[in-house]
Amino acid sequence: MTISKSEQLFSRAQNSIPGGVNSPVRAFKSVGGNPIFLKNARGAYLFDADGNKYIDYINSWGPMILGHAYTPVVEAIQKKAADSTSFGAPTELEVEMAELVKSLVPNVDLVRMVSSGTEACMSALRLARGYTGRNKFIKFEGCYHGHADPFLVKAGSGVATFNIQTVPGVTGGVSNDTLTCAYNDLDAVQQLFAENKGEIAAIIIEPVAGNMGCILPKEGFLEGLRRICTDEGAVLIFDEVMTGFRLAPGGAQERLKIDADLVTYGKVIGAGMPVGAFGGRLEIMKQIAPLGSVYQAGTLSGNPLAMIAGYTLLQELKNNPGIYTELEEKCAYLKAGLQRVLEASGTPFVINQLGSMISVHFSDHPVTDFASAASANNALFNKFFHAMLRRGVYLPPSAYETWFLSNALTQEDLDATIKATEESLKEIL
Ligand code: PMP
Repeated sequence: MTISKSEQLFSRAQNSIPGGVNSPVRAFKSVGGNPIFLKNARGAYLFDADGNKYIDYINSWGPMILGHAYTPVVEAIQKKAADSTSFGAPTELEVEMAELVKSLVPNVDLVRMVSSGTEACMSALRLARGYTGRNKFIKFEGCYHGHADPFLVKAGSGVATFNIQTVPGVTGGVSNDTLTCAYNDLDAVQQLFAENKGEIAAIIIEPVAGNMGCILPKEGFLEGLRRICTDEGAVLIFDEVMTGFRLAPGGAQERLKIDADLVTYGKVIGAGMPVGAFGGRLEIMKQIAPLGSVYQAGTLSGNPLAMIAGYTLLQELKNNPGIYTELEEKCAYLKAGLQRVLEASGTPFVINQLGSMISVHFSDHPVTDFASAASANNALFNKFFHAMLRRGVYLPPSAYETWFLSNALTQEDLDATIKATEESLKEIL
């Protein structure tokens, strides 16, 4: 496999882009080596600048549920672009989009569009604070809610991948209001509420975590958070930027049968265009400007190209619920295959999976929170990543990221992935 064009592009990129990339995890810094520059993608496959083909398990970090360059989405964007790329004024399409979201997520009374997952979470937190009149909030170690200041405390994803303990530029004044504890530790949450009586505005959580690898909520954990928030008058925010419309049409709320007060979306809701959204109960959402005085705004919010892309994808998902069954079957098949070859290799491993989210930790203990994810053999994962890449399988370049399946994957792709895993393990162990 030649990657000379990628190498050339990376050295050129470093002269004009910080670290040569527009988002840190792309840099391959923790797995070693230089990033692959992509040219195009179709269905389940990525093609790089040198023409190499990869089976994709990143899927733009989630949104490509039906694969890349999905024809109805591409055609809808092309058609819409002819009517202008932005108005900064209301359109019928925004109303249709909000109605579609409400039909998929019944406990969302009102939904506001933004342009990224970061904006969605940042705005939901401000709203929870404005609504409760309290400042503090709880997030979980290893969860990532975007790069807004209050969330960059014990965060997952790139912050964990690059082992950044404190982020320069985030002031103590801000981070002091961010309370953290371990994922799945209900007692610790209870203790934080006891120590900060009447001061906690919200709990924000990835209901299935994807930013420290894939980590599942233990039975009763999310139910416990729901109960505590209700008892304490705090707002429960589900960050469904990864899980929304992926684990079920109604996201993790539907799949796990728990109602949050506010929900945030990103990625999937724009089918890969820059979109995010937050929504929830009327009583809370009506505090948002112009209904209320919790200010939140965006020139490009509800952008017509972003809306038509997301609307087209969500409509497909709504009309074809069988997609979720197919995705689940594909992921179960992959999991069984990975399990088989990993067991045969003799190396300790843990596979966490729900729906079409899955990840492998090279660990001899269950991986249920950030500490257990961090104490896995992540150096081995880094070697595994490169061995898989050389065999044409593109995994996220960090053990602290979940893998996402698209429904464009075929049986042959899954078999090829399992075979590549078997060969990679032979090479690196
Ligand atoms: N929340 C979660 C759960 C995420 O995974 C991400 C991005 N990986 C974000 C928020 C931030 O989204 P964005 O990168 O679109 O700002």
